[in-house]
Amino acid sequence: MTERKFEDMPISPATLRAVQEMGFEEATPIQSETIPLILNGKDVIGQSQTGSGKTASFAIPCLEKIDPALRQIQALILCPTRELAIQVSEEFRKLLKYHSGIAVLPIYGGQPINRQILALKKGAQVIIGTPGRVMDHMRRHTLKMETVCYAVLDEADEMLDMGFREDIETILSATPKERQTVMFSATMSPEILELSKQYLKDPEMVKINRKELTVPQIEQVYFDVKERDKLEALCRLIDSYEPKLCIVFCNTKKRVDDVVEQLLSRGYFADGLHGDLKQAQRDRVMQKFRSGAIEILVATDVAARGIDVDDVDMVVNFDLPQDEEYYVHRIGRTGRAGKTGKAFTFCAGREIYQLRDIMRYANTKILRQKLPTLTDMEATKTSLFEEKVQTIIEAGDLAKYAAIVEEILSRCGEEVDVVDVAAALVKLELGEKLASMENKKNDLNAPNHFVHPSAQPKEDGMVRLFVNAGKKNQIRAKDIVGAFAGETGMPGKLIGAIEIFDEFTYVDVPYTYAKEILRRMEGNKIKGRKVNVERAKKVMPRQNRKKDGRSSQHHVRQE
Ligand code: ADP
Ligand code: MG
Repeated sequence: MTERKFEDMPISPATLRAVQEMGFEEATPIQSETIPLILNGKDVIGQSQTGSGKTASFAIPCLEKIDPALRQIQALILCPTRELAIQVSEEFRKLLKYHSGIAVLPIYGGQPINRQILALKKGAQVIIGTPGRVMDHMRRHTLKMETVCYAVLDEADEMLDMGFREDIETILSATPKERQTVMFSATMSPEILELSKQYLKDPEMVKINRKELTVPQIEQVYFDVKERDKLEALCRLIDSYEPKLCIVFCNTKKRVDDVVEQLLSRGYFADGLHGDLKQAQRDRVMQKFRSGAIEILVATDVAARGIDVDDVDMVVNFDLPQDEEYYVHRIGRTGRAGKTGKAFTFCAGREIYQLRDIMRYANTKILRQKLPTLTDMEATKTSLFEEKVQTIIEAGDLAKYAAIVEEILSRCGEEVDVVDVAAALVKLELGEKLASMENKKNDLNAPNHFVHPSAQPKEDGMVRLFVNAGKKNQIRAKDIVGAFAGETGMPGKLIGAIEIFDEFTYVDVPYTYAKEILRRMEGNKIKGRKVNVERAKKVMPRQNRKKDGRSSQHHVRQE
């Protein structure tokens, strides 16, 4: 797939100038393939990933087709949601900056219809609307469909998912048959093809391969973080990388609310986006995020769909995406169109298998990394402080404050010099911050730190059980296998490692059998001795054993 320069395409200088101003260096693959076809008058079906520049693919040729002298609707763009209709019209506005006499008008629900009717009367040539509101205007005869010569179905898959099929058909049927029709979508489905058969004439199919789904310049990393450490991990990443705009993805609405709340309580500027919010609330959140008033947007997959914000430099998968394709969509939020970005994924224990599937599907490597340690964080905080001080010194205008330093010095006597005063001020500013870190000594990179070294199963998928009988009770491996297999009917060979100590034994059993074994062994005997079987506890070994010699997990010691 070759990328092309916009300069090599037959587009007007006005459009070219706008494209340059928007910072587009070259056309994306979908643009390279579809713009020339559309300019040639072909009907086109274009499929490529979210964020790959589909809007400009239909908007650029659209501008070349409009006759500014005609004050009538010439192009009709249908979008699934209000948010997307707004985004598309913003992109149009930027692209037509140097064209004169072209007006675009977004029409969507939630906006007073009278105002839209007035605006329509002024003679916009490009209408960008949601199907529902367009139908509304058609019923009121406030939209003249007879003059449409270019129709676009944007994000066609989503429109069909949202049940707009009939509306789309009604709308297209009201436009002239000779029109040119193009369709863009992130995914393809039989339904889309069927729709295209009905309404597109001999369309050209342009499909940008899935392999190119992932944007390669994004650094993708995962961290092995336990559920309860996720928030701390998130804060450390934010503090260390200081993203301008960060999106945190969660799998449920509830999670979004929880994470937002916890971030707020830690003093971060965060807000959430999910399906329960009213449109006005969503708009407000997005507005705040775009303007930088909030730095962290916490969102569900559905809520974040199709949202397009530039300069997102960090995406965090707080929850592992439930669908491999979501992963690609999520990380597509950063590193847009050549900008660099980071994608971090939290992955707990066995979720690594799911992550491997994602890597395979997305054809990408996600490398494991260690979270920044407190030492790293201290260094970051200190160097940030140093930078700030330096900036203040460079800005000058410090006479007033220098006088205070002199005053302090004169009060302190001979042996105190300027460095002492400065050091005291640094302590005043930084001391507490650094000390508060000291208090949080738990190392997230060593989640097993507090775990008894042998209380962990040897293999993934196993659970380690503790039996309060050992060598002293003449317990042997085959006694354990006999008891467990005999009680549960589980094949003995599924039992994993068995480690027999003087007073107790560790037995690894498959995760899927653990509960059953625990239930069946309750109050049961091994070698005629009543035993206690429980999950091996993750406790620190204690130095001293209890005097009575009864083995309990709280004083086990590696023999
Ligand atoms: P899609 O509809 O495929 O999800 P968009 O059209 O919303 O993607 O484009 C995503 C972002 O990429 C937008 O911010 C857009 O301005 C930007 N963009 C589009 N084309 C280019 C390009 N050729 N070079 C750089 N950025 C681009
Ligand atoms: Mg789009």
